[in-house]
Amino acid sequence: MKRQEENEKRMSKVLIIGAGGVGRVVAHKCAQVPEVFSEICLASRTLSKCEQIRKEISRPIEIARVDADHTGEVVALIERCRPQLVINVALPYQDLSIMDACLATGVDYLDTANYEPPDEAKFCYKWQWDYQERFREKGLMALLGCGFDPGVTNIFCAHARQRHFDEIRFIDILDANAGDHGHPFATNFNPEINIREVTAKGRYWEEGEWKETEPLSVHMPFDFPVIGPKEAYLMYHEELESLAKNIKGLQRIRFWMTFSERYLTHLRVLENVGMTRIDPVEYEGCQIVPLKFLKALLPDPASLGPVTKGKTCIGCLIDGIKNGKRKKIFIYNVCDHQEAYRETNAQAISYTTGVPAMIGAMMMLTGKWRGQGVFNMEELDPAPFMEKLMIHGLPWTEVEWEK
Ligand code: NDP
Repeated sequence: MKRQEENEKRMSKVLIIGAGGVGRVVAHKCAQVPEVFSEICLASRTLSKCEQIRKEISRPIEIARVDADHTGEVVALIERCRPQLVINVALPYQDLSIMDACLATGVDYLDTANYEPPDEAKFCYKWQWDYQERFREKGLMALLGCGFDPGVTNIFCAHARQRHFDEIRFIDILDANAGDHGHPFATNFNPEINIREVTAKGRYWEEGEWKETEPLSVHMPFDFPVIGPKEAYLMYHEELESLAKNIKGLQRIRFWMTFSERYLTHLRVLENVGMTRIDPVEYEGCQIVPLKFLKALLPDPASLGPVTKGKTCIGCLIDGIKNGKRKKIFIYNVCDHQEAYRETNAQAISYTTGVPAMIGAMMMLTGKWRGQGVFNMEELDPAPFMEKLMIHGLPWTEVEWEK
């Protein structure tokens, strides 16, 4: 009996790794749903960050220090805290070491960004898809990319496939942040990851092959619901890789993000002077990675929360065939920075990532999503997830798109 009680208790214990902007939202949101998340442990490299978040949450949560670059440290932590699921919202560099720890301890895994090697500005799912057999053999589930984009955008596509189309031909994912934080230049999530992503070559998938464009060279105006017209720039983004594989019959998929002229001018200058380089340079006898140094100078994204005003709008423009007729819809969410901050002490970028991570964890812990192996979001049933988005702070809208 005692063992059964212990197992039931363990059923809903989560270990959140990473106490940054996203980790803060995940901790707040999990704490709001005690019937699913009966116990929470928040761990990060800097314990004081966990301590700060713990103070903001009305329920007691455990905290711990861990350097997740070291699988052994994560294994020891999992053995001590005995969660049923690890939510990885540290940085993409830690994905594989945390997945290894989950395999070693028999615990399910969820993250919001795919693996990137620290010394190469490159991301792709191969490294994590290669864990398929190992997770399957152990009867464990790993859910990849469960933030907003990737994450909700994949679910919007799966929902469109399930409810609106016989055949999807074209997908454009559009991400606009119309928030203003008052700084001349700042990034709204981890500056290192953000700048690596933005300065990379553009890439999209068309007629069965990948096409490459120079960084931020292709752009178009787009009239976003609620926030209005913005210039959107073609970029490569990780969900393109899995959606191109999993949405059958797709002819083209692209990703677009909006940037202000001011942001782009700063970025151009920083690039031109070498401040976005990720290789070490020698300075007065020390090895310095310019991008890491730049990160130290830029405002901490967490500090932007109280000062950011405005809204984000992220959605999928989907074009295809229903009952023999052409159809085009836009499915989107609008999130207000200040409302997000009032609820979780974090701005909308962290909020729109942390809420889906919590919902994905809820899907796994309640058995709505169950599987053995490594999964991308669009491989799972979108209906229960779409329902929870409405309830937990990210309501969505879908409209026929005539423009
Ligand atoms: P932050 O930089 O704010 O937070 C990252 C946290 O991870 C920090 O608290 C940091 O701790 C911790 N961390 C870093 N390295 C380690 C380590 N070796 N061991 C333990 N903890 C570590 O980033 P965000 O919160 O903005 O982003 C978190 C994740 O979410 C990233 O992977 C990001 O790419 C992803 N993301 C996904 C989005 C989506 O829509 N899918 C959108 C935005 C972000 P410390 O401060 O002590 O170093």
